[in-house]
Amino acid sequence: MAKYVYFFGGGKADGNESMKGLLGGKGANLAEMAGHPELRLPVPPGFTITTEVCTYYYANKRSYPAELKEQVETALTKVEEILGRKFGDPQNPLLVSVRSGARKSMPGMMETVLNVGLTEKTIPGLIKKSGANERFVYDAYRRLIMMYSDVVMEKAGGIEPKDEEGIRRQLERLMDSVKKAKKYSSDTELTTADLKELCGAFKRQIKKVLGKDFPDDPLEQLWGGIGAVFASWNGKRAVAYRRIEGIPDDWGTAVTVQVMVFGNMGEDCATGVAFSRNPGSGENGFYGEYLVNAQGEDVVAGIRTPAPINEYSTSEHNKDLTTLQKGMPVLYKELEDYRTRLEKHYHDMQDIEFTIEKNRLFMLQCRVGKRNGPAAVRMALDMLNEGLINKEMAVLRVTPAQLDELLHPIIDFSVEKDHTPLAKGLPAGPGAASGVIVFSSNDAVEWAKAGKKVILVREETNPEDVDGMRSSQAILTARGGMTSHAALVARGWGKCCIVGCSALEINAGKKTLSVNGKTYKEGDILTLNGTKGYVYEGTLPMIDATENPDLVKFLKICDSVRRLGVRTNADTPADARRARQFGAEGIGLFRTEHMFYGEGSDEPLFYLRKMIMSKTKEERQKAVDELFPYVKKDIKATLEAMDGYPVVIRLLDPPLHEFVPRKKEKLEQLAKDLGISLEELEKRAGDLHESNPMMGHRGVRLGVTYPEVTKMQVRAILEAAAELLKEGKKPYPEIMVPVVCDVNELKNQKVLVEEVYAELLKKFNLEKLEYLYGTMIEIPRACLVADKIAEVTEFFSYGTNDLTQMGYGFSRDDIGGFVPDYIEKKILPADPFQTIDQLGIGELIKIGIERGRKTKPSLEVGICGEHGGEPNSVKFCHRVGMNYVSCSPFRVPIARLAAAQAVVEQE
Ligand code: ADP
Ligand code: MG
Ligand code: MG
Repeated sequence: MAKYVYFFGGGKADGNESMKGLLGGKGANLAEMAGHPELRLPVPPGFTITTEVCTYYYANKRSYPAELKEQVETALTKVEEILGRKFGDPQNPLLVSVRSGARKSMPGMMETVLNVGLTEKTIPGLIKKSGANERFVYDAYRRLIMMYSDVVMEKAGGIEPKDEEGIRRQLERLMDSVKKAKKYSSDTELTTADLKELCGAFKRQIKKVLGKDFPDDPLEQLWGGIGAVFASWNGKRAVAYRRIEGIPDDWGTAVTVQVMVFGNMGEDCATGVAFSRNPGSGENGFYGEYLVNAQGEDVVAGIRTPAPINEYSTSEHNKDLTTLQKGMPVLYKELEDYRTRLEKHYHDMQDIEFTIEKNRLFMLQCRVGKRNGPAAVRMALDMLNEGLINKEMAVLRVTPAQLDELLHPIIDFSVEKDHTPLAKGLPAGPGAASGVIVFSSNDAVEWAKAGKKVILVREETNPEDVDGMRSSQAILTARGGMTSHAALVARGWGKCCIVGCSALEINAGKKTLSVNGKTYKEGDILTLNGTKGYVYEGTLPMIDATENPDLVKFLKICDSVRRLGVRTNADTPADARRARQFGAEGIGLFRTEHMFYGEGSDEPLFYLRKMIMSKTKEERQKAVDELFPYVKKDIKATLEAMDGYPVVIRLLDPPLHEFVPRKKEKLEQLAKDLGISLEELEKRAGDLHESNPMMGHRGVRLGVTYPEVTKMQVRAILEAAAELLKEGKKPYPEIMVPVVCDVNELKNQKVLVEEVYAELLKKFNLEKLEYLYGTMIEIPRACLVADKIAEVTEFFSYGTNDLTQMGYGFSRDDIGGFVPDYIEKKILPADPFQTIDQLGIGELIKIGIERGRKTKPSLEVGICGEHGGEPNSVKFCHRVGMNYVSCSPFRVPIARLAAAQAVVEQE
């Protein structure tokens, strides 16, 4: 018989941490905490219904496998036996929570229902058992009614709220009106009588709006809750979140049913969340927040300001509140002990949920805690030092996206110190951002689409805001703590974020923000320092943060693990120098034509144009000779900047028409210089027109037609190298021929290269000069005839942009029209220009490498397309045995990390 229900409790558990696929992250970790002999922490007993049931539920018109009912009943009985209380028992009732949990955590995206099992019949029993705490019981009841009517009756029941206002909001307004009438400022001031009355009013409202009675049967409540959790897997929020996070739809959620413990029974009760290390900085400090006399979600919801658990967690914001350490020292010590044990057990930072019921501590959840980039790096380094993890694990602890955060800008400190912040909040997401303010998630999406950098300003965020948060540069909220929704989500994404900025008065309706007597409206500019929590008016200048010593140390560790080389694509000496700072070990692509686009002097471009417009060989030779010194100078400076490292220099690649001047006066001057009429020049320009220039007269084809152009470039490369050699430097030029489809093209060009080389040795009186001759592999045919091509080349460099373009037959400049559709309709899993298509284009790459190395085992193979800095593509390059990847300077650290991860993941 299939096992659909996994029990945990009483020091035992059917499941364990490795079963996240089946039990969800929450269920698997509850089982681990409850049952693992190293832990056996105080976890309220319960059971988890597997994700397989979720799959069944959706495949079978929202019904359950026949065996489920009995398995649930058996597990429930076991729970009842452990506690000596019964679900639905009027004398001694047991309440449960019904909790969601997917394989990967989706914070707040699915539903959880608390206090299930509370009915007219069980209320008196619970009052008796709670020591006549009537208020507590009615507070629990009103929470159940609010959650249940929203999650189970309305959302799972498929009822579309009228006027956009759901039942929950309506009930909240009922409660608010009582608070207002009685002049209460907090929920805790509501009296027993108030609560009793509210529960009645709630039920009447539910009946009126939803047309159904609130169920008064414990089992009906339980199964309603279970169904609602499964239904919430396909709720709008959860689906949107899965799209963003790339979580497959068919994973499904598990459902955990667990005995309730109460943090809201009085002053000796509390609930809280904590991180075993600081998720914002990575520091090895116990960091958390809690609320006395509160239930679960109150902490995250930001209704009351939570107190810090200890001195370490204290900030400006909460410094007047009593810490758990002071208020409940024994329990704090116990919690701290669990913190240490959990870290030792999981070898990673843990995010913990706990509740204290009448001076007893219960653990309700643990999972690997989300952290931002700087914290991830810091923790990896610390844990390595502490011996908690080894080098290989350290390398896996930082995702490429997290590393990317460390490369993000921060506000220029020298300027920032002269500015006074408008307001201060909690630093929930690091880095800095400037942008125009908007006040709703929809506006954020719209404005971002229009190309604006936006900062989303909200009272507090909720899961419905994720799209807008995603579209924003930064998020700013007036309420909420470090564990609020905004902080959690921003931390996960590594986004700049400030929360709990209580000085802000936000009017979302009017789209204004007031602070210290000043008012800002939608579209005004603010700058946030998310690392400190400071908000500034206007735009402040940013600098990059690559000097970070943690980053340098961490990347050294990556270097000691990886085997793949990392070079950079650089077109200027300045790029080359910058890339070396990032750790590039050479240049994988230097595009000679780039010097003609740059700022600097117009002369090279002018001579190039002359060369292009020449009709006779003599004219062209003259232009080529004039151009030569410029080309040589540029190459020399680049080789020098990369001294000691290889530099791949690509011969002229683009179609020539790209360089033809458009302005009349330029054309006139060119005509004069060439000694021809304007008419004649315009005719020559017209002759260059091609109907499909990207596949026209370009790359090696130019070199075949105009050998003098190839020779000039080769001479520039070799002379630059020879001069550097004489100056005591170590140049390693690699000459790369682009757009090759056949070995004969390369043979044709090689004759020219060797001719120039022989002349050079004589001219410089050298015996030899080291250089490599190779080709870019970017036409599918070249992959197939790579064995032949390798006969005359020493290296291949995959130009995967063109290889993808020609392999797919997708014009890379025109994909905007259809690739988004392809991705949305799941025809393509991803944009193949962003991440290598391993199935097709990858196969071409593999064939090329295999055939090339068969002819020449020493063949050097690299990649120089955009993909060289994309982590999954880098890992692919490692697996197929390339020697190096090459990417833009800013991607070099990412490639170093991905290359190291590829090694660990393969072992
Ligand atoms: P989420 O996945 O959104 O965090 P949870 O299932 O963790 O949802 O539930 C939210 C909160 O409800 C938890 O933080 C916890 O404090 C509270 N809660 C859940 N189950 C119980 C329980 N059995 N007893 C007491 N509190 C609970
Ligand atoms: Mg939780
Ligand atoms: Mg190309």
